[in-house]
Amino acid sequence: MKIRNKILVYFLVVLLVPTFVLSFFLVRNSQISLENQIIDKLQAVAQIQKNRLQSLLSEKEDILTLFTSRIFLKGDIRKYNEKPTPELQERMNASLAEAKVNTASIDAIIVANTKGVVIASFPASFIGTDISGDELFTKGIKKNDVSLFKKDTTTGIMDEYLTGPLVLNGEILGAVILEINPSNILNVSGDYTGLGKTGETLIAKKDDNGDALFLTPTRFDKKAALLRTVSKDQTNVPSVHAVNGEEIILSNAVDYRGVSVIAVTRFIPSTGWGIVVKMDKDEASVPLKNIMLMTIVVLIFVVFLSGFVLWFFSNSFSGPIKKLTALTKKIAGGDLSQRIVPSSHDEIGELAQSFNTMIEGIKEARSHVDEKVRVQTADILAKEQELEQSAKTSADLAKDLAKFKLAADNVSDQIVITDPEGVVLYGNKMMEKITGYSVEEAIGKKAGALWKHPMPKEYYEEMWRVIKTEKKTFRGQLQNRRKNGVVYEADVSISPVLDADNNIIFYVSIERDITKEKEVDRAKTEFVSLSSHQLRTPISAINWNTEMLLNGDAGEMNEKQVRFLKEIYSSSRRMIALINAFLDVSRVEIGTFSGDPKLVNVNEAAQDILREIHPMIEKKKQHLTENYGANIPTIFTDIKTIHAIFQNLVSNAVKYTKEGGDIGVKTSLSADGKDVIIEVSDNGIGIPNDQKHQIFEKFFRTEVAREIDTDGTGLGLYLLKLITDKVGGTITFNSELNKGTAFFITLPIEGLTPKDEKSLKPTA
Ligand code: ADP
Repeated sequence: MKIRNKILVYFLVVLLVPTFVLSFFLVRNSQISLENQIIDKLQAVAQIQKNRLQSLLSEKEDILTLFTSRIFLKGDIRKYNEKPTPELQERMNASLAEAKVNTASIDAIIVANTKGVVIASFPASFIGTDISGDELFTKGIKKNDVSLFKKDTTTGIMDEYLTGPLVLNGEILGAVILEINPSNILNVSGDYTGLGKTGETLIAKKDDNGDALFLTPTRFDKKAALLRTVSKDQTNVPSVHAVNGEEIILSNAVDYRGVSVIAVTRFIPSTGWGIVVKMDKDEASVPLKNIMLMTIVVLIFVVFLSGFVLWFFSNSFSGPIKKLTALTKKIAGGDLSQRIVPSSHDEIGELAQSFNTMIEGIKEARSHVDEKVRVQTADILAKEQELEQSAKTSADLAKDLAKFKLAADNVSDQIVITDPEGVVLYGNKMMEKITGYSVEEAIGKKAGALWKHPMPKEYYEEMWRVIKTEKKTFRGQLQNRRKNGVVYEADVSISPVLDADNNIIFYVSIERDITKEKEVDRAKTEFVSLSSHQLRTPISAINWNTEMLLNGDAGEMNEKQVRFLKEIYSSSRRMIALINAFLDVSRVEIGTFSGDPKLVNVNEAAQDILREIHPMIEKKKQHLTENYGANIPTIFTDIKTIHAIFQNLVSNAVKYTKEGGDIGVKTSLSADGKDVIIEVSDNGIGIPNDQKHQIFEKFFRTEVAREIDTDGTGLGLYLLKLITDKVGGTITFNSELNKGTAFFITLPIEGLTPKDEKSLKPTA
């Protein structure tokens, strides 16, 4: 139900129900009090009428008594009865006439003797009439009766009679009958004062059948007197009750006409008269009807007025609510442009205000939501596309993966994939072959725990630094231990695989078993070493013998012979240099180069070598600048190492610098005090940029170098690289073509302790 209708209904119920109930009680009360009023009135009238009738009767009694007590008349009657004479009769008639004159209401007077014969009368016409059978006589001879009525048979008019015995000294002389004018009693019954249009007073008495006989005409039946009766059986008719001596109130009675009446009865015992004062109910209820009509009119007015007022109020209530409802429907439909204009300053106005605020809120929230939805929709679409794409490609990927696995399983290198902690996630078939561990055994375990063969701590630190901190590929060689305990050499490359956020997902390690290669290398090196050794003796012999021949120990040589011998001598020396270099390299590779470590003073070692080389410097008129660091500690190494460094670097500087050039030798401590730095510089031919990267390769020589010095081997720098790597140092250089070159070697002071000769420095 709509709020407006609800308010209407509630208010109508609250307002109208009590009003109706109140009206009902009001009407009911009015009805009762009206009825009471009418009954009171009827009772009052009844009592008055009864009193009037009673006084009438006593009046008549008085009239009768006055008459019957006339002594002279009675004396005359006795006399007449004894002896009737016309004089007596005359006197009696005259007495009657005089009585009539004295009492205005008397119409006629009859005196009958005890036999019922009229002996005197006024008018005299009745004299001689025998009335012995008449009720008037028969009753009157016995006792006074003032309640007799008769209808004049000729005129139909009702006459009233008083009758009583005439007694003188205890002797009954006869009876007197007075016909009096009934106007008094008719006045009583015909007096409707205070009884409205339908009210009346009925006077009745029981007839011989016990029925109620009306003595007087009624208001609605003028001929009712002495004719109309009401059966004694009609107990709801008030007259029946009245003649039965009851003095009662009848609220729901029916009168002689059969009309509903309210009645009050009275009874006069002396005459047996019943008096009914009554009024038609219809008339009695007229005021009530008026009240009811008024009430209904007022009620209708109240209903309409309150209905209108309520309609107005509920409209003023429900109007804004209706607007709100319509608005919410529009908002629910998505229209957020709607606003309510607050029409009042009450709670509804506040509600409207709050509503507007709420819509603003919704609008704002929705714009956020819209934006989010837009962004998320775009996201979802993009992801859907991605998914479609990936769904398309995933099948291909699966195929590719299978292919990749097949390939990875069949390569000749060991491939192992681990998680960031080194736990094996994948291993190919070669892994089983190389390490002796099956794939099933390896997966889920740390690779290091399976096949790690202890290497120097620094090696692993360096490895983890490269792959974990720098997130770069680590390359190196190491030794591992097979499942059966055999140690093997491996060339390893470990690469971190990173996700989009640059986090390590796993490591891919590719290893190659180089044990055999190493053995072959070692065998080659040993062969070179051995053959160099073997070669050096005969070449040395050639050298010495050539020297002797040139010295003229075998006699004088001609010029040509000397020239040839010099050629032989130079070649043999070059060969010896080459063989020495080979020997040094192979020793380093085999690990016998630094076989005799001692505490070495680097500056002193440098000066020793410079002393040897000095003749060469002088020969080329070059300037040597020496700059030895004062605080350089002694280092623990084989003196050969330090000699080889100065020997190679200084002789190169001399060789590749023109006459009169500058040579610099410098030793110092690194800033952190951890390394000894050896620097050898010159202002010679320099190294072309495009060849700098090859400088430490075996047998590499620049073209210019080859032109200037044909005796070079291209093994000196290679050897130094091997040596410095071996001791954990570095060798680097700066060079500019035709301007000069500077070589720098760092030697770690701490690290220069005898190491595991087989350990190989990584080349990451
Ligand atoms: P060698 O000196 O016997 O040729 P090295 O291994 O000592 O062999 O040197 C390799 C090459 O490096 C030389 O041939 C030369 O080209 C270049 N080189 C070395 N030192 C110098 C230098 N101080 N100035 C210019 N070039 C140099």
